[in-house]
Amino acid sequence: MKFGGTSVANIDRIKAVALKIKSEVEKKNKIIAVVSAMSGVTNDLVSLVKQASETYESSEYDAVLSSGEQVTSALLSIALQSLGIKSRSWLGWQIPIITNDVHGNARIKEIKKENILKSLDNGFVTIVSGFQGISSKNRITTLGRGGSDTSAVALAAAFSADRCDIYTDVDGIYTTDPRIVKNAKKLDYITYEEMLELASQGAKVLHTRSVALAMKYSVKLRVLSSFQNLPGTTVVNEEHNMEKSEIIGIAHNPNEAKITISIVPDKPGQAALIFGALADKGINVDMIVQSSTIDNSSTDITFTIPENDLILAQGILKNIQNEIGFSQVTSDINVVKISIVGNAMRSQPGIAKTMFATLANNQINIHVISTSEIKISVLVSSDYTELAMRSLHTAFSLDKK
Ligand code: ADP
Ligand code: ASP
Ligand code: MG
Repeated sequence: MKFGGTSVANIDRIKAVALKIKSEVEKKNKIIAVVSAMSGVTNDLVSLVKQASETYESSEYDAVLSSGEQVTSALLSIALQSLGIKSRSWLGWQIPIITNDVHGNARIKEIKKENILKSLDNGFVTIVSGFQGISSKNRITTLGRGGSDTSAVALAAAFSADRCDIYTDVDGIYTTDPRIVKNAKKLDYITYEEMLELASQGAKVLHTRSVALAMKYSVKLRVLSSFQNLPGTTVVNEEHNMEKSEIIGIAHNPNEAKITISIVPDKPGQAALIFGALADKGINVDMIVQSSTIDNSSTDITFTIPENDLILAQGILKNIQNEIGFSQVTSDINVVKISIVGNAMRSQPGIAKTMFATLANNQINIHVISTSEIKISVLVSSDYTELAMRSLHTAFSLDKK
């Protein structure tokens, strides 16, 4: 059972979570519960780090950021004990959950099971601080923002749990973010592949890596409400998907920045130089378009990167401007990437046409397009976020699901 930030936002909610766990214990289930920090706390911790210094060691950043989950895991354990349930809180290093040492975005390498198995066998509920682990260098790591979902799925896989239930502030996975599109509809089922695509395109209801892990280890994953007793959404294999339709959902990612490099001399190796220089500094490039002049003398290259990396990228491009000989770099952060996702895209023609026509009918200009087997993404001005999502939701009949 995993409880997100709003589900443990205050003592009353933590007490409500304790009651939910108690009812599972009464059904003779053994429980590992994973908690996030109280909502807003991790953001506050990020801000404290930045106030302390503009530059900092990422290992110290992780030591600060991981503290929010220490508080909630112990408070939840106390709340359970007060209900007469045996429980104990565990920090990542106490289990231990061993990760690599990529601070701020660490990956889990191994979960040692001995300590927790002993504790479960002795009748204790295990409460784990999500989002954290320990590196082989004995430093605390964090798994990337939203990473408590990944902690939960990794534990479910390691302990061969019957289920991994992600309790959150919505009652399941919707056709799109219900906070943006009022007509969003709850799905009973979604496939791992579709959820993976939605999450990686910005649907933060599940951490992308948690979905990838669940798919790899066949973890039975559900998303459901912390506040109401409702069935939620189950993530299933493709053959079990009962909700086949053209498009299953729409995601948006407002944290992209668009960069255009103008008048790049058109010859082999230029793109490799530009994207190589960005990759060397760890910048992930997402969408890319290149268009040459009619006489093939030069080309413009437009691409997107995470907004947070924009200043770094601008510096890198300045350094290679003379070597490559392009004329200028322009950038825009007032953009959003909107993606439509669905398995049926593999077989149904005309989906791209419907998407582009819908945007055109609403006077929304498309800057960049990219596709995968089950997804089409467009980059548009962020002023149109809601209009684009709403109109696409209607155009693909998701309002009626
Ligand atoms: P938690 O703190 O429980 O981890 P998050 O804020 O990380 O919760 O994720 C839940 C939020 O995800 C919802 O409040 C909702 O606004 C957002 N969201 C985005 N896309 C979707 C979607 N397709 N279905 C449901 N929720 C979504
Ligand atoms: N507290 C962490 C965050 O805000 C992890 C999580 O909530 O999943 O990113
Ligand atoms: Mg989350």
